[in-house]
Amino acid sequence: MKSNGTCECGAVTYEVEAEFPDVTICHCGQCQRTSGHAWASVSVPLHAVTIKGQDSLKWYASSDIARRGFCTECGSSLFFERLGKGRIAIGAGTLTQPTGLKTGKHIFLADKGDHYDISCSAPQYDTYE
Ligand SMILES: [Zn+2]
Ligand SMILES: [Zn+2]
Repeated sequence: MKSNGTCECGAVTYEVEAEFPDVTICHCGQCQRTSGHAWASVSVPLHAVTIKGQDSLKWYASSDIARRGFCTECGSSLFFERLGKGRIAIGAGTLTQPTGLKTGKHIFLADKGDHYDISCSAPQYDTYE
């Protein structure tokens, strides 16, 4: 399956050739701060993703084990990569619609913001599942 997506301003675009898993919505503090809210993503093999507009893509080392890619022009939170695992999580909101995807789980509920509740029926986990 081939899909594509873009940041808000269009400086960074990407193509993915992979089967997508269900969407994971992460409520951890890092996702909330870098995206402004919980961050929805799909994890795919790193080699399945072709990124264009690398000049406008900056990687932020959000921890010793992961980095996050965002557009330097518009600030869109596009990617999360756990280093050395060969996989990359793509911001589900940056995919071209319709995606046909559904939400599979919510993670890091322990860090969830106090300004919202989750009425979604997908499973919820306190940390990572
Ligand atoms: Zn952009
Ligand atoms: Zn997170």
